[in-house]
Amino acid sequence: MTVSNAPRKAAPRTIDAVVVGAGFGGLYMLHNLRKHGFSAQVFEAGTDVGGTWYWNRYPGARVDIESMQYSYSFSDELDQEWKWTEKYAPQPEIQRYARHVAERFDLLRDIQFNTRVTAAHYDEQAKRWTVVTDQGDTVIAKFCIMAVGCLSAANKPPFEGIDDFNGPIYHTGEWPHEEIDFTGKRVAEIGTGSSGIQSIPIIAKQAEQLYVFQRTPNYTVPAWNSPVDPKWEAEVKADYPAMRAKARARPTGFYFEFNTKPALSVDESERRKTYEEFWSRGGLPFLGAFGDLLFNKEANDTIAEFAREKIREIVKDPETAELLSPKDVFGCKRLCVDTGYFETYNRPNVKLVDISKAGIERITPNGVVANGEEYEVDIIVCATGFAAMTGSYDKIDIRGRDGLKLTKAWEAGPRTYLGLSTVGFPNFFMVTGPGSPSVLAQMIQSIEQHADWMIDCMAHMRDVGLEEIEPTLEAQDAWVDHVNEVAAISLRSTCSSWYVGANIPGRPRVFMPYIGGFPIYVQKCNEVQTNGYEGFTFDTTPPTNAEPTVRETERWRVPLDVDVISPAMLASGQVPVV
Ligand code: FAD
Ligand code: NAP
Repeated sequence: MTVSNAPRKAAPRTIDAVVVGAGFGGLYMLHNLRKHGFSAQVFEAGTDVGGTWYWNRYPGARVDIESMQYSYSFSDELDQEWKWTEKYAPQPEIQRYARHVAERFDLLRDIQFNTRVTAAHYDEQAKRWTVVTDQGDTVIAKFCIMAVGCLSAANKPPFEGIDDFNGPIYHTGEWPHEEIDFTGKRVAEIGTGSSGIQSIPIIAKQAEQLYVFQRTPNYTVPAWNSPVDPKWEAEVKADYPAMRAKARARPTGFYFEFNTKPALSVDESERRKTYEEFWSRGGLPFLGAFGDLLFNKEANDTIAEFAREKIREIVKDPETAELLSPKDVFGCKRLCVDTGYFETYNRPNVKLVDISKAGIERITPNGVVANGEEYEVDIIVCATGFAAMTGSYDKIDIRGRDGLKLTKAWEAGPRTYLGLSTVGFPNFFMVTGPGSPSVLAQMIQSIEQHADWMIDCMAHMRDVGLEEIEPTLEAQDAWVDHVNEVAAISLRSTCSSWYVGANIPGRPRVFMPYIGGFPIYVQKCNEVQTNGYEGFTFDTTPPTNAEPTVRETERWRVPLDVDVISPAMLASGQVPVV
């Protein structure tokens, strides 16, 4: 549905801030800008708000962090009035929530839909960004804020012959708005990450025949999804801020019960009992069964073997069970959360095709060729993921000082200070940019914390009369070194995941999100602010008596007295980082 499309402007407009993207990041940023008296324009390529939850409409799409936590925390009224129906809300409900937020906070009038930002160039003389869209808009703004998302640029592998296919090809991340009926169809699904694992069981129930093309098997834990327990809902709503505070104190930005004991500190039978108990809770918290699972390979081997046993128990055909069993580190790639995934392979109309050796050979007018065999199908579904973290930046012609292109500056991998900003690009902010916890934390928390930090910084600049902010090279280098250092502690850096860009040939291998944990990161951002934006330079020296403006970030300064995670604990592997 097209919500609003502002008239095209013939002459460039001058405003305080341009925001690119109207997912949860863009929406909250706009709310903050308005609240603090900044003029703003949001451009969104889609025709409605919601971002991820607008684009990923594939069957089975739902959140993998419980919805009572995967939601905004900035408004207690919003928390109280919104009612989630399921523990893990499905995509349509999450998009309705985004829409509700946009309407409730009157955001739609500053969002221009169906408009893709194509270029953003910095004018050093004027100290302003010129932002251009595919609809002919040109806007001049002091700040350029990217809320383009970490998982928003679909990865569409250029399979040989793909244009010759006679039927429709759908990508899970760009799913059509109309319902797709798979009844009586032969379907090929390529990809077994979270999107594949969620959609395969549902497509299998409709299709006449489903071929799943698997390059690498993935670990997945049952969601045990259910309607929201009214007692639990009442308990949370009685003191929502307490739940949010507990969540913020966790490395993941969401709360679940966990065990800090090392896996090998207990005997085999206690370990098994613990895994069974955490498995029965389901979802990502399964990784909280022991504290060192992502830091100690031997410990990880025990959970990996437990997960493989579960696959062998569920999948009746031993050969298929073996192919579905991952051999790498458990939780190294993003852990998947499913409903009936492995059970699907017991259906007579589902066949797993192992393409680990030679990949997809080609697409023909009639189907997919792999291992020398042609699988004739009517529909192809690509659940092939995203050019993660930087993909949506790469699509925009972003140029900073001296015409420096962002793609050039990040040629060997993204380099940022705190994931918020990057050298050579003044007044350019990124919501959940690479180098921030982003995808390793509950993302709505990450988004709010970033947008709050940015707005305080922008208000400070206005209060003090500063025109330009940019990180120093030293501060950026030190942050990048730290991001790499903590990544190396975790087993997560050891496999070829999208976290390191390895899902797409030719991308530099760099661990992109910050794995040090959400609380430590927030603490660092607060310190930088308190110390007068340490690590940043302004166009002029701020007056010495200019105290940093602390308004929205105030709420991130609450002492973390619940389950506080210190860097030392993290380094010693005493805490689960899901
Ligand atoms: P997005 O939601 O990606 O929004 C970015 C928007 O920017 C998009 O609408 C896009 O169209 C727009 N855009 C990009 N480039 C341009 C341009 N050049 N011009 C104009 N508009 C542009 N996270 C969790 O924490 N928990 C989960 O359970 C979870 N589940 C997920 C499930 C799926 C299927 C996917 C893909 C991701 C999931 N994530 C999850 C991550 C999810 O992306 C974030 O939680 C969150 O929705 C990101 O919001 P965002 O606003 O930062 O980015
Ligand atoms: P993904 O995890 O990157 O999975 C993509 C799949 O496609 C992988 O199995 C990959 O194989 C395969 N693939 C990619 N290119 C291929 C090629 N050229 N030939 C054959 N196979 C190919 O992507 P995703 O499943 O869309 O998930 C991305 C992220 O989005 C998740 O990790 C998660 O953070 C988020 N997400 C969350 C949920 C949720 O549960 N809430 C749902 C969906 C997505 P390889 O493994 O061999 O590369």
